Amino acid sequence: MQEIAPVFIAGPCAIENRTMFEDSIRFLDSKDIHLVRAGLYKPRTDPHTFQGLGTSGISMLAELKREYPVSFISEILDLRDIEKMREVVDVFQVGSRNMSNYVLLKELGKAEVPVLLKRNMCATLHEFACAAEYLTEYGCPYVVLCERGIRSFDSETRNLLDLSCVPLMKSMTAFPVIVDISHSLGRKDIAVSMGKAALACGADGIMVEVHPTPETARSDAKQQMDFREFENFLKEIY
Ligand code: PEP
Ligand code: MN
Repeated sequence: MQEIAPVFIAGPCAIENRTMFEDSIRFLDSKDIHLVRAGLYKPRTDPHTFQGLGTSGISMLAELKREYPVSFISEILDLRDIEKMREVVDVFQVGSRNMSNYVLLKELGKAEVPVLLKRNMCATLHEFACAAEYLTEYGCPYVVLCERGIRSFDSETRNLLDLSCVPLMKSMTAFPVIVDISHSLGRKDIAVSMGKAALACGADGIMVEVHPTPETARSDAKQQMDFREFENFLKEIY
């Protein structure tokens, strides 16, 4: 039987400045991880918190792409950003909050860019599958689904990681399915166990937030791994 290695997508919650992002890319490159989270537009619950560097970060991404063997995955919030983002972004992330933004899904489909579609925190699997079909129906050449936890009642984890989503979406659709360990859990002490569980139930890959100094992160500080923690995570998973 052919073995297919899982895909790892890693990088900070958000790009905060060039130094921390370039440090992250260099470290991930040393671990052979070349699909990097490159968030410029952050959908934050609290409007008074860091919203991302926005459009001003696009030229930085272009420069870094010339210097490193890296591909960027970046969340899009506004369909008016498609054209400028496509110059530097390899995979467009549609975040949980926009899974049912059908106008955005149609426009991304028409733009024919690869999309990572995250499950809305309250979406049924049927709704998730239908959202993915919006993309392909309008021309999207490549869709990856991402489970990132659903709303539940227990605050020990940020969300409830629904691993049944993985085998079910793989049987209900033809798309690859990955699991975002960081936003599901909101903590990192059980990331190794849940990462192993995600792969054991058939996930094609894992997304993890990695930051050079998580304690100073401007968003999601508790769930981001530092380089040493991520190194250990990879070792355990392999
Ligand atoms: C993210 O991956 O940066 C993010 C905001 O995740 P989600 O849409 O799953 O909340
Ligand atoms: Mn985050």
